[in-house]
Amino acid sequence: MMNDLTLIDSASVAMPEPFVGRHLIDGAWTDSAETFQRHSPAHGTLVSTSAKGGVTETEAAIAAARRAFDTSGWAETSGKYRATLLLKVADLIDARREEIAVMEVLESGKPISQSRAEIEGAADLWRYAASLARTIHGDSHNSLGPDMLGVVLRDPIGVVSMITPWNFPFLIVSQKLPFALAAGCTAVVKPSEMTPSTTVMLGEMLIEAGLPKGVVNIVLGFGDPVGALMSAHDSVDMVSFTGSTGVGKRIAAAASGTLKKLSFELGGKNPQVIFPDADLDAAADAITFGIYFNAGECCNSGSRIIVHEDVAEALTNKIVALSRKVPFGDPLHPDTQVGAIISPEHQAKIAGYVRDAQSGGAKVALGGQALTLDGLPGQFYGPTVVTGVTPDMPIARDEVFGPVLAVLTFRDFDEAIQLANGATYGLSAGVWSTNMHTCLQFARKVQAGTVWTNTWMDGFPEMPFGGVKQSGQGRELGRYGLEEFTELKTLTMRVTPGRD
Ligand code: NAD
Repeated sequence: MMNDLTLIDSASVAMPEPFVGRHLIDGAWTDSAETFQRHSPAHGTLVSTSAKGGVTETEAAIAAARRAFDTSGWAETSGKYRATLLLKVADLIDARREEIAVMEVLESGKPISQSRAEIEGAADLWRYAASLARTIHGDSHNSLGPDMLGVVLRDPIGVVSMITPWNFPFLIVSQKLPFALAAGCTAVVKPSEMTPSTTVMLGEMLIEAGLPKGVVNIVLGFGDPVGALMSAHDSVDMVSFTGSTGVGKRIAAAASGTLKKLSFELGGKNPQVIFPDADLDAAADAITFGIYFNAGECCNSGSRIIVHEDVAEALTNKIVALSRKVPFGDPLHPDTQVGAIISPEHQAKIAGYVRDAQSGGAKVALGGQALTLDGLPGQFYGPTVVTGVTPDMPIARDEVFGPVLAVLTFRDFDEAIQLANGATYGLSAGVWSTNMHTCLQFARKVQAGTVWTNTWMDGFPEMPFGGVKQSGQGRELGRYGLEEFTELKTLTMRVTPGRD
């Protein structure tokens, strides 16, 4: 134990050789004059060196995706053909699971146990999307009159720019790419500059599976200029973006000149409301998981607890007791549950939110320390519980994106809803009660794309995911996730000879 928390020492695992990442443009691996590096946020070691793309590489990638969509015949291939290809990719992901999982740990700082589960989940998404590839259909209308027939087709939308964040690099590209490919689209993908390498590995698997050249192109680099050009370019039909709300707004502005379709998965400040009749042990367990998963660097982080004042103390005590036992430290150790923080700047930002709450009168019930651990030169932040938080505090309103739980209290149902809906975000929300009427009332009134009842953060490929308000627009996963990458086309046909 250290500082009242459970610390995991250095795992002493041999580090792989630094990965060399190149762009994938029109089926060829391509270098750039400049490169950029990524060091492990936990271990400080060099993890990868990547080609640093600019305007030239981005233009070439977009042109390749445009050609592949317009002239290669990819968009007209059968669902069976595309499904077979996606299934091959899923098998290749399974075969390279450990290599991908370790790279995710080294670039992002997340724990290896969670990384392995993430890659397994990603392979499942490729399989699920393969099943959808054979179900794409519109509908027909035979009630338009005796000599008319209406057919509604679902066409692939075209060239899609996919811009992804650092917190779940392989999972998030797998929430987009197989669905777009199943629909018949082509793509240009830009992973985060913090975590580029597993997307390059995915490119290798796509080539090995036999994907025709130009259908998927990968450009490594930074938001400016790569992401910005991918958003503004008039040869791109859609931007599918996962990342912060601030960057989402910049992408919307850049894309406005072409009015292309936008699909946004953005930030969250997700409330869990605990009513006095809830199973407090189950709630405390799920709340503890929900805030420390991926070190709180998760759009679905359950970072705001809104608990009835009659049970606030009892629940907080349970959460603090569980939080003390959450092992944090070296992300390569199989027992670690909370790994490193992505960057020193982000660690400082998290610490700033906690300090600010303290100076506003909130209490740190546990943690509250930015830490450097023995043998691990990177940056960590211990599991932290802050009580006495009021709705006006930045820690209650902003996405802290760290292992920091803010606890607020309420007196009645209306106040609980008002507090839950008080944020500008609307990604996910949770309700804890043994009364289903209370749960359903809450689920109907809360402003969120996903509502969990007596559970937190369960996700399934079949269930759509996305946000309302400033958490995003559009949906991923489920059949809705495939339909996002399609455009409706209306065919109106005269079926009897026309007028003379
Ligand atoms: P970010 O917005 O800083 O970066 C995301 C991506 O956008 C990166 O690839 C980055 O290079 C690129 N980018 C930066 N500036 C750009 C610009 N001007 N034009 C185009 N692209 C640009 O986000 P992040 O820090 O990588 O990730 C954390 C954020 O992502 C959090 O807000 C989190 O909530 C959100 N997120 C949301 C979901 C979801 O499903 N809703 C999932 C994961 C992460």
